[in-house]
Amino acid sequence: MLLTLTMTPAPGPDQTAPTWPASDLGFVLMKHPEHLLEKTLPFGKASVFYPEASPERTTAALLVEVDPVALSRRARPGDGSPLEPYVNDRPYAAGSLLAVALREVFGTAMTGHSRERQGLADTSVPLTAQISCAASRGPAGLPERLFGPLGYAVQTTPIALDPLYPEWGERPYVRLSLSACVRVAELLRHLYVLLPVLDGKKHYYVGETEVGKLLRHGEGWLETHPERELITRRYLRFRELVQQAGESFSVPAEESGDAPPEARPRPHDERLDTVAQALKASGAARVLDLGCGEGQLLRRLLPTAQFRELVGLDLSARSLERAAAQLNLTERPELRERVRLLHGSLIYPDSRLKGFDAAALVEVIEHLEPHRLEALAENVFGFARPRTVILTTPNAEYNTAFNKPLELRHADHRFEWTRAEFRAWTQTTAEHYGYSVDYADVGEVHPAFGPITQMAVFTLVGPRDRAPASGA
Ligand code: SAH
Repeated sequence: MLLTLTMTPAPGPDQTAPTWPASDLGFVLMKHPEHLLEKTLPFGKASVFYPEASPERTTAALLVEVDPVALSRRARPGDGSPLEPYVNDRPYAAGSLLAVALREVFGTAMTGHSRERQGLADTSVPLTAQISCAASRGPAGLPERLFGPLGYAVQTTPIALDPLYPEWGERPYVRLSLSACVRVAELLRHLYVLLPVLDGKKHYYVGETEVGKLLRHGEGWLETHPERELITRRYLRFRELVQQAGESFSVPAEESGDAPPEARPRPHDERLDTVAQALKASGAARVLDLGCGEGQLLRRLLPTAQFRELVGLDLSARSLERAAAQLNLTERPELRERVRLLHGSLIYPDSRLKGFDAAALVEVIEHLEPHRLEALAENVFGFARPRTVILTTPNAEYNTAFNKPLELRHADHRFEWTRAEFRAWTQTTAEHYGYSVDYADVGEVHPAFGPITQMAVFTLVGPRDRAPASGA
């Protein structure tokens, strides 16, 4: 991946003598034109050098060489193909990795500080950024829509899939050139935020701290950008990597951001504790944890003898492996009678789930496409039919209290419900399958927006053996 930044002299106040020779770009980037800088990154190597450096025209080049093996080690199973971590465009197409490299090597310049040329750092100068191959997935004209409103003259050259066979069409990559009279820091921040947005792919490879930085670098221009919503939506996908790279399914940091000073437990702990409590109260001995993830709920239930049989089910084999490790299942053979982990999907009927007292679905339904919910309900309430079902899901209204009214809490969420939507779905489902339903607020409750998490407790009132729909 190659990015070049070219500066031509900035005209002085009288429009005649340039105040800043182009070669002063090195002072603002804090990289000396005569030196080669090399920096090791978690996924490869970045080099900065100057192919040209004269008072009339100076170009700094950032070359990022990605090590595909290092990259694959940092990958988490996404929903791409199994080979995706090894075979992908990451090493070649500028996107999130280039953004991270940018911040690593030009971090100070990005803040707008310059030790020796603060005046230049504060001045808009003629700059051109060129990216030899930028990933651009999305609507036609996306580069123009993203960079145009910020004042750039945008030039894109499509890259053919194979120049010998033009009929094969184009790849989602372009050669990108952006020119404007801007401050160096602005240009860097625009690139930093918008390259991953333009790329639009899920990324697995970047650390948690990137997120906050990404947000900060949008300050001052993102709020008024006409494509703000698109940028935010795509940017959230960039955030997903954070969840994927995170140590566990712990809840995003901002969920605890508004916690009062007396520091409540983390929302996810509070949620799991509440569900564990409700399961206990139900009197259940045989419990299903549907969408058990890494087994955080099971771990909480394990010390309680009342729970004689605990079964976790999840779609993600990787999560199940972690759950097994967390629960220490290999070193505790005595647990094998009591705890089992099943690989499976909630949207297909599964006879292994029949005959249980209770089932928990903690922060699971919002990970399913809405049109799958009917299948889930049929399998859980109609087919497995435990006496008690405990279901939690985010309360979308509370997101306003996080100051993120329009965003989903987690990029993997397919939807989040308001309290009314939650009531409507749970009531219809309960009625249809012969359950009664009660509700509880979980976690902090906002006076206007309600609780962080909404919980429904279903209790079977109809017959355990459901008559076939035909009534035969
Ligand atoms: N209940 C856990 C994990 C919540 S994250 C906890 O509270 O900590 C949501 C989980 O649902 C993930 O582990 C995901 O793999 C799982 N999941 C998503 N769709 C699923 C499906 N169709 N069948 C089973 N599990 C699913």
